[in-house]
Amino acid sequence: MRRAWEKITGGALAIAATRALLASPAQARQHGAMTLARQIGSAFAPLVDLVYPPRCPLCGTGIAAQTGLCTDCWSELVIPAEPCCARCQRPFGEGEGTDGTICAPCLASPPQHDGIAAGTLYNDASRRLVLAYKHGKRIALAPLLARLITARLPACGDRWLVVPVPLHRVRLWRRGFNQAAILAQAIARQTGSDLLVDALVRRKPTPILGGLGRKARARALAGAIAVSPARAKQIRGASVLLVDDVLTSGATSEVCVHALKRAGAQKVVIACFARVLDEALDAAGDIAGHEAAPQNAPPQNAKRPEIAPRAPT
Ligand SMILES: [Zn+2]
Ligand SMILES: [Zn+2]
Repeated sequence: MRRAWEKITGGALAIAATRALLASPAQARQHGAMTLARQIGSAFAPLVDLVYPPRCPLCGTGIAAQTGLCTDCWSELVIPAEPCCARCQRPFGEGEGTDGTICAPCLASPPQHDGIAAGTLYNDASRRLVLAYKHGKRIALAPLLARLITARLPACGDRWLVVPVPLHRVRLWRRGFNQAAILAQAIARQTGSDLLVDALVRRKPTPILGGLGRKARARALAGAIAVSPARAKQIRGASVLLVDDVLTSGATSEVCVHALKRAGAQKVVIACFARVLDEALDAAGDIAGHEAAPQNAPPQNAKRPEIAPRAPT
């Protein structure tokens, strides 16, 4: 019963949120719709808590707020730690490098992006959280995922323009919402940044990239993602935060970064909830399609989240 209710409310909320996010021309209308939804949500929160007591989305233990995790599941999440690569923030293992060092993959192929802000390293706990969020349509988890990401943003004083990785319209229609767009909205809200949900468009559907080699991925993505001509002016000179839920091979985000830089973005930092480390890719399969779970052993210096579990505002 509870599951059915969550499916109904989750799906309806997801579709309503996506519609509001994709309404065009309409940033003002977006804000109005989402503010109203938030107000209604807050007003009914005590009633929902009473009828459906909050439970941890990973293990079902009773917790204090609808959108948190229990202490045990919280402690299973692993966030990247220092020292890390100066270009991509890939954490180094013990004795591998110090802050300011550039990792081997970045030396071999210098990235176009200006850094990766990953909320967690991909492991079983973050995988299950992404599954609940994306495929379980529990979009109420977005503020929690966003909070872990925003804690990792570089303290550079930039005013971010938050842009989600786009979904092709067929996949959007099937899923009912773009998980990256809802995450981007939560990040924009938490950081007081501008949200540009339709800055990037997917011009053609792309196959599942898991299992494809680097060249095959590049072929599949060629010409697939572009900056919307209507948004080019806003991209020019901006510091962009490119948002996705999971960063796997980085092929899709690379194409997005390329398009944004070509449109004149001054800086593009990738923001993701779960980052698969390069060495785990062979085992990763297609995480975007969630067909395989990588055994993404965190480096020895990886650490547990320092943010106390609490209800997002
Ligand atoms: Zn739990
Ligand atoms: Zn690197």
